[in-house]
Amino acid sequence: MPRLLFILILFVVSFLVVRSIRNKLDKNKHIDSDDANRGDQTNNNNKTIMLKCDECGLHVPEHEAIKQGNHVFCSLEHARQRLE
Ligand SMILES: [Zn+2]
Repeated sequence: MPRLLFILILFVVSFLVVRSIRNKLDKNKHIDSDDANRGDQTNNNNKTIMLKCDECGLHVPEHEAIKQGNHVFCSLEHARQRLE
């Protein structure tokens, strides 16, 4: 009978140990993914190239800028104003 009790305790202890290790791993995973997300965001921010509008001087992200030859504009309106 004491043997059975010993085995039972062993089971309970190993269960608790496994559970606490899993919790720790999950927490680490969450922290890692948060860090990765933050890293991606800062990388994207660093990659965003700001271009200055030749008409009004406003800085716009490269993907939103309108390029006409060597000129860069913040909007179609300013591109038209400069070209007219
Ligand atoms: Zn402009």
